[in-house]
Amino acid sequence: MAKLFIVPTPIGNLEDITLRALNVLKAADLILCEDTRTTKNLLQHYAIEGKRCMAYHIFNEHEQVGNYIRMIQQVETTALVSDAGTPGISDPGFLLVREALKQEVEVECLPGPTAFVPALIQSGFPCSSFYFYGFLPHKKGKETLLKRFAEMEETVVFYESPHRLLKTLEKMVEVMGGEHPVAVAKELTKIHSFTFRGTLAEAVQYFENQPVKGEFVLIV
Ligand code: SAM
Repeated sequence: MAKLFIVPTPIGNLEDITLRALNVLKAADLILCEDTRTTKNLLQHYAIEGKRCMAYHIFNEHEQVGNYIRMIQQVETTALVSDAGTPGISDPGFLLVREALKQEVEVECLPGPTAFVPALIQSGFPCSSFYFYGFLPHKKGKETLLKRFAEMEETVVFYESPHRLLKTLEKMVEVMGGEHPVAVAKELTKIHSFTFRGTLAEAVQYFENQPVKGEFVLIV
């Protein structure tokens, strides 16, 4: 029977992949990849050869989902991977999973790397209940959303791109006040990984004074 595995891959450090994820990739008849080049590098690193890799990304997911479901039904094991972390978490995945389930294809998501979990835990903020948002909207709705975050009792975790980080922190100062505590996790699992912990005003000051490069998770 056809089965679709959702396979989390490293978010920086190539050692962060489970034995099961490697075994599923080794066994896969078909690997759907966000970027086939990125996945081929990962497969090469683990000496997994001769795999059929096809592109499944935000630019073709709506158009290709039906075709891919038919292909998944014709083989035993398909793996869906993204460039980093868990597919479906701010990455393509949801549409394929929904359609696979509709067509009675078995779906299993393996546990594994995702950026928001280590960012949340090492922030030191309460994590018994939290709210994960993914990427904030760029313009419309951003302020309303930040106001909603400010009123929440739960810790809020979201992703931000390096070129919007400072603007977002400034907007957060406006909406939540400069004294509001924040953590900013940068480049998790990589050599230059670090977590800023302080107030929003201190975060603005910190990131104003250095080039903002890399990948970031914000926790408030
Ligand atoms: N699927 C991924 C996951 O499970 O976390 C998320 C993919 S999303 C396109 C990429 C965003 O995740 C980045 O812009 C950043 O906010 C966050 N991210 C991914 N890797 C990260 C890392 N090593 N350190 C900090 N943030 C990271």
